Amino acid sequence: MEFMTKPQQKALNEIGGIKASDDAKEKGYFPKRHFKSKDILRLIQNRKRISPTIKSLLKSANVIKSHDISKEYKNKISKYEFYKLDKYIRDVLKMDSWGVATFSEKEIFKGDAIPYKNVIVLSKHMKDDHFVVKELPNMDCMLEVMEVYGDTGVACLKVTGLLRYMGFGALPNHSLGGNINYSEAGYKANLGFIGKHGMLITPHSGPCNRLSVIYTSIENLTDFIPSEDHSWGNNFCNKCKKCVATCPYDAIYEENKIDKNGHIECISNERCNSGFSKYGCAICIAACPFTKVGYDKIKEKFVKE
Ligand code: SF4
Ligand code: SF4
Repeated sequence: MEFMTKPQQKALNEIGGIKASDDAKEKGYFPKRHFKSKDILRLIQNRKRISPTIKSLLKSANVIKSHDISKEYKNKISKYEFYKLDKYIRDVLKMDSWGVATFSEKEIFKGDAIPYKNVIVLSKHMKDDHFVVKELPNMDCMLEVMEVYGDTGVACLKVTGLLRYMGFGALPNHSLGGNINYSEAGYKANLGFIGKHGMLITPHSGPCNRLSVIYTSIENLTDFIPSEDHSWGNNFCNKCKKCVATCPYDAIYEENKIDKNGHIECISNERCNSGFSKYGCAICIAACPFTKVGYDKIKEKFVKE
């Protein structure tokens, strides 16, 4: 997969802007998949579901290269422009939630760069019926993940197009291969909290979601976006720990680790990749109560206790 994400990463790094500092975190790597011939046949049979992911990923590099960062772009969005943007993201692109975060040099992956510190984060659910099944990992999960990578990948390109049309600076970063950590981006954009399994847990679909981002010159988006307190979720995680107990590779830490530069680590990337190489694992998504029960129900009960 890395050979497909590299052109996008290279294009963003060449544009430059804000470069990762020396104490930034290393990016995790993609595991190699071990497909059997019957899996390859299913991928071919489902090529229409998968092709938007590949096409949008390849297109991202060209869209990034077409942006002239040396030009001056608008940096204040009006209430009317915000309304148009919000409607487009929710009603046309069918994203379940979106928000904005600010990233610093330390929060960019080591060796990478981002063009603007302001980051719009898009989130879309995956259908949970493929995940809440007895037999995991399975190909249906992997196909669903790939499809939603495509939806969010196409969405970040389209939002980029709209913002540029409005006169703002905007560059996409596809759902596959970010120059920043997307769970952290979702958390900083107030879309949810980060569960013990390292995924963003959202009100709309728990951890069963995918994310993509757009870097933008807009400075005042937070003036229009209401904030929600998700901090109770980490207290819930501390009592739950179902994913820790369920992960077959012991990849999820019972207590988060903090590295020498202050970066929080929830899981062992290396161990998780042993599971991920089998289609995409997803056992921790299935185990998480936020997938099965839903955010609002859990919150209502937990906050009362
Ligand atoms: S994806 Fe699988 S291997 Fe990775 S943390 Fe989740 S359960 Fe463990
Ligand atoms: S399974 Fe439990 S501990 Fe793990 S992320 Fe979900 S709520 Fe948190």
